[in-house]
This record gives sequence, C-alpha cells and structure tokens, in this order.
Amino acid sequence: KPDLAAKLALKLKLAKPAPVVHALDDVNLSIRKGEVVGLVGESGCGKSTLGRVIAGITSPTQGQILWEGEDRDRLSSAQKHTLGLKTQMIFQNPMAALNPRMTVDELIWEAPYAHGLGKRSERSSYVDEYLRLAGFDPSMKNRFPHQFSGGQRQRVNIARALAVQPEFLVCDESVAALDVSIQAQVINLFMELRDRLDLTYLFVSHDLGVVEHISDRVAIMYLGRIVEEASVEEIFRRPNHPYTQALLAEVPRIEPEKRRFQAVKGELPSPLNPPKGCHFHPRCPFAMERCKQEMPARREVAPAHLSACHLNDV
Ligand code: SF4
Repeated sequence: KPDLAAKLALKLKLAKPAPVVHALDDVNLSIRKGEVVGLVGESGCGKSTLGRVIAGITSPTQGQILWEGEDRDRLSSAQKHTLGLKTQMIFQNPMAALNPRMTVDELIWEAPYAHGLGKRSERSSYVDEYLRLAGFDPSMKNRFPHQFSGGQRQRVNIARALAVQPEFLVCDESVAALDVSIQAQVINLFMELRDRLDLTYLFVSHDLGVVEHISDRVAIMYLGRIVEEASVEEIFRRPNHPYTQALLAEVPRIEPEKRRFQAVKGELPSPLNPPKGCHFHPRCPFAMERCKQEMPARREVAPAHLSACHLNDV
C-alpha cells in the first residue's frame, strides 16, 4: 500500500546508525604459561569483553590474539578447534551454565565424548576423575544441578571445564556470586588445580582483594584500556596509577585507619562517549589541564611495572 510504503520510507530515513562502542582500545596483554593474571576494573570497563576475546568467544574487530606466537585468525579450522578445547571459560553464574535436566555425570561427560577425548567404556572412571579433581565424592554424580549449593555448582562447572583437558582457564567473575567463605574455598581449588594440572589463568574480577590471593600479575582496566600492569606485590606495595590507588582503598583491611588512599568517587563514564584525554580525569584527584586533552601513554615506572599517567612525566 502506498501509505505503508511512505511510513516505511520515513522510518528508514529516521533510523539512526547504531552507536559504535570501543569496548577495548589499545589493549596489549601477554600471559605466560603457568601464570595467573588478574584483570581488574569496575563493571562496564571492558574486562569481560577482553576475557571473551581471549577465550575466543568474541572476535575482535581489530588487532591480533597470539597463541604461542601464532595469530589465532590464521590457524586452520582443526587448529582452532584444538585451541577452543585448550581454552575454557568459567562464568559468574554457575546455574546458567548447567542444563538443569542433566545429571552431573551427563554434564561432565557431554563435551569430552563429543570431542572424542574419552571412550564410552571408560566413561565412569573419566567422570569420577574430574569430580575428584573438583573436590567431589564421585557418588554425587547422579544428582542434578539444583541439588547442589552455589559453591558446589561452580565446582561442577570447573569439573566440566577440566574434562576437556584445557591448558588455559578464563575465569570471569567466577567467585563473585558466592559467599565470602565459599569464595575462599573456590579460589583455593583454582590454586590447587593450577599446581596439579599446570594450568594458566586469566582471572577477571571487579575486586582487587579477590585477585590478590590468586594472581602473579595484575592488569588494571579503565574504560577499555589497561592503565596499569605489574606483579601483584608491586600493585599492592607501590600502586602508581590513581585509579589503582582508588581501587586499593576499597579492599577490606584489618586496620582500615591505615588506608593510604581514597576510594574512587563518581560513576564510570559511558563507553559511548568517553572523556577526552585521560579517560579517568573527571574522577581523578590529581587531574591537570594536560590530562583533559592528552591520553597518557603506558610506560615503565619500575622494572616490569607499566602505568599510563601524566604524573609520571612531572
Ligand atoms: Fe589522573 Fe592525569 Fe594521571 Fe589521568 S593522567 S590518572 S587524570 S593524573
């Protein structure tokens, strides 16, 4: 009908192009074999996107992901498939990742069977092995996910991820939904598994206090950029970037009066319209005129300690 056609034309004319969000910008992060790297920042800073890109779940629009020096995009499909198994992701909500109609036995066996990692005749011992690794008695394998507590469900997820024999785990807020005492148990399990299975981790969290216990190195992210990167000891003893200092102020301490820094104020700006210059300048207590115009480059402020702040040039 002409009326409808006119309306449609108007609608098409009025439709605005979708806004472009640069969830990640100029990110350069290396993770060595056997290392645990903590990736920390507020909700919406891009850390989960980076985790998904590294895990191969999301493709970057630009840039490269190198695995043992090889560009992941240039691998053959068989190599990509192998790499997909070597890299597993563990998410925040364990229940969402588990099919409620499947028993734990089925949940753990599903992927190794599909990928030809275990023989049907060895199913029982295969599943039992991964249940034991995640701290379960194998007699629990006929239960359904709803019969477990939150912490146990996350351990089922860990067993499931391990069952495809990965080398690298990307843990995205994997303990954030758990009670503090259960968080400690799951973190201890991650550390134990690292030693037993020679695993490498990217541990994504909004909580610097959580990554302190598990990481060798920490990268701090703000609005899509890594603003500081150093060993966990350096980050806690000599934080350089004002944003890292503000995050440290939020880590619970036995003697809170000994805090050296102020917590961050205000909200994270929208990634749709990030502030010009240093993205942190509207919230930074040390912001200078230059910070409003110029993006600071990352540079080494101590051996293997990188930070992006103009204060380092003063
Ligand atoms: Fe603060 Fe300026 Fe450093 Fe950014 S560059 S963190 S605004 S002092």
